Amino acid sequence: MDITKKIEKFAPVDIEVDRSLATEKEWELIEELVKASHYIDEIFLRQVYDKNVELRERLRKDSTSPEFIFFTINQGPFDRIDDNRPFIKGVPPKPEGANFYPTDLKKEEFEDWLKTHPSDRGQFESNFTNIERDGDKLIAVPYSKTYEEWLTPAAGHLRKAAVLANNVSLKKYLIGRADAFVSNDYFQSDADWVRLSDHTIEVVVGPYEVYEDALFGYKAAFESFVTYVDKAESKRLAKVVGFIPELEQHLPVEDNFKGIGRSPESPITVSNLIYSAGDSKAGIQTLAFNLPNDERVRREYGSKKVMMKNVHHAKFEKILKPIASLVLNPRDFERVEFEAFFSHTLLHEISHGIGPGEIQICGKDTTVGRELKELYATIEECKADTLAVYNNMYLVEKGLYSKSFAETLGATYLAGIFRSIRFGVSRAHGGGNAIQFNYLLEKGGIIFDKKTNCFGINEGAFLSAIKDLAHDILMIEACGDYKAASKFMEKYSNVKPETQKVIDRLKGVPVDIRPKYAFE
Ligand code: ZN
Repeated sequence: MDITKKIEKFAPVDIEVDRSLATEKEWELIEELVKASHYIDEIFLRQVYDKNVELRERLRKDSTSPEFIFFTINQGPFDRIDDNRPFIKGVPPKPEGANFYPTDLKKEEFEDWLKTHPSDRGQFESNFTNIERDGDKLIAVPYSKTYEEWLTPAAGHLRKAAVLANNVSLKKYLIGRADAFVSNDYFQSDADWVRLSDHTIEVVVGPYEVYEDALFGYKAAFESFVTYVDKAESKRLAKVVGFIPELEQHLPVEDNFKGIGRSPESPITVSNLIYSAGDSKAGIQTLAFNLPNDERVRREYGSKKVMMKNVHHAKFEKILKPIASLVLNPRDFERVEFEAFFSHTLLHEISHGIGPGEIQICGKDTTVGRELKELYATIEECKADTLAVYNNMYLVEKGLYSKSFAETLGATYLAGIFRSIRFGVSRAHGGGNAIQFNYLLEKGGIIFDKKTNCFGINEGAFLSAIKDLAHDILMIEACGDYKAASKFMEKYSNVKPETQKVIDRLKGVPVDIRPKYAFE
């Protein structure tokens, strides 16, 4: 097992901060948030694996060793991009329940306990408790107790940050969050986070995602994102959002299939990452997050999506560009630009909120998701990607983006397709991208250049092919047509041998980035 090779899959990148963007006082505040985040790192390390701390101390003695570096990337001895396989000698397979449950606990024992102790259910299934053994009993211990040693100083730093905050909504969130670290009740501060307004510092800290708990998916892992709002990008975003009703009317379907109901997507903030901790630091780096996860908060206050522009930029430089250089013909490679990459991602998110959502079939109210069942995620991702190109071109027509930007869109988009399908097409994103690729190839919008052995955009056919694809996908959704979706996927959601040959060139391209924070 060559750990050095594994490390090379993560391209190191400096996450710089532009000191001129924030005021002195804001930087003081940010420093408090980063200090709080260091405690979040400590908590997460303990959530992953019960022997994580002693293992880290042992490996740290040789801090330049591949073992220690890869441990840091994964926040533990398990390779997160290789099914959590242990990569340190002597470490057993990762317990399914990470360190949220006793390592020897089986699903049945947990479920049997709840059958005989039904009043324990709330606390046992809570996102914010650990399950422990107490003699021959099982008990639920709140995070506020288990992690008190780290939550108390973290709360202290959040309170200091609150004192420095000029923005009232941010002050309220930080104090509320500090209180939650003690009370173990995150509801109010989750709601306060969604309602942050006119703020320049976008921070989220606490227990959120439950993926680390592979046993039941109940237990939330601690994480934090400290980010700075990108004001220029936010302005442009507000303009794009203003166009949403027009984009809906401009969809390439007949009028009676337009505006058939989709609850508005969560609002988007564009910001730049300064520091991340805990769960969000481990393994693959997040480009955007949509929080909170608490359904009660989402129903009452909605949720919010934060897209981190500088993380997009890092992945663009370290992954997308190298991919483009290996799969695109020289002319199209020259056209691959970050602005086009970021706009496509932004419009992808916005386009999820455009098109059919709540539909009627034979007079019966239903939703696209309910009708397309397990195929929905792939079809919907394909829709969002395709409409992102289609809608971006509309915004070019409307003068929001320049004509030279339009030239970069197709090539950048095509490179992005290879980024998504290189690891297979079984998941929604990869599958949706394969559909686009094969469809556009069939319609002549994408061509294979035999001279260069690379793919490229055929400008004469590309946009009309995109329009046709958008039409076909939207009609599958508007009619909730499961059979048509299934046929469409069978035909297009695959990788042909000649495409695979090109994908095989990408073996040496990094899988992800390894951020090094200027703040660390
Ligand atoms: Zn999506």
